[in-house]
Amino acid sequence: MVNVDKYKEINKVLQGQGTTLVAVSKLKPASDITAMYELGQRDFGENYVQELVEKQVLLPADILWHFIGHLQSNKVKYIAPFIHLIQSVDSEKLLKEIDKQAAKNKRKISVLLQVHIAEEHTKFGFDEAELMTLDVVMFPNVNITGLMGMATFTDDKEKVKREFEQLRTFSNNFKNTKKIELTTLSMGMSDDYELAISCGSSMIRIGSLLFGERN
Ligand SMILES: *Cc1c(COP(=O)(O)O)cnc(C)c1O
Repeated sequence: MVNVDKYKEINKVLQGQGTTLVAVSKLKPASDITAMYELGQRDFGENYVQELVEKQVLLPADILWHFIGHLQSNKVKYIAPFIHLIQSVDSEKLLKEIDKQAAKNKRKISVLLQVHIAEEHTKFGFDEAELMTLDVVMFPNVNITGLMGMATFTDDKEKVKREFEQLRTFSNNFKNTKKIELTTLSMGMSDDYELAISCGSSMIRIGSLLFGERN
């Protein structure tokens, strides 16, 4: 089930902000995506390769698919032909494989580098030192267009705010050090998207608020 009122409310908040809404449809049926597509939504986020591939063949070709889950190198080939943006690139090995698969498909693939900002050890991503030493010119078929991060799961708003601000600072440092154009700072989910926007997010990833809780 799609929460139409919430969808409209979030779009109102985003109006004139230059922030893109990615509707996170993982574990939700294709019919929910169709319902939201009919409201005008085009950017959808998925976490699992097999689920994404199954939905992609069923749904309209002009959907912009974002991959936001942990991605294993050996599965890049399944999404390389059509993926719009891989937001969860967390290793050099993965970048190398995306570069290879992009070349095979005669396209460039846009990616965000996932940065570890939360205190939880389970969240994947580069740390600042790894970002700064990354050789960004080694991947000619990959467009690195920004960073993505997930804050700690906590009620402590000050802590979440510090983590978002840290990610924005990393983004500025990375851009200045590597002399690359970064257009996207992907941060903010159902529980913290307003805070993320106030901290400079240009892309929010919302699941449960739009589609209801997941099992
Ligand atoms: C599931 C997921 C989301 C959406 O989470 P909600 O709290 O349901 O909005 C956003 N980003 C990533 C990386 C996710 O895995």
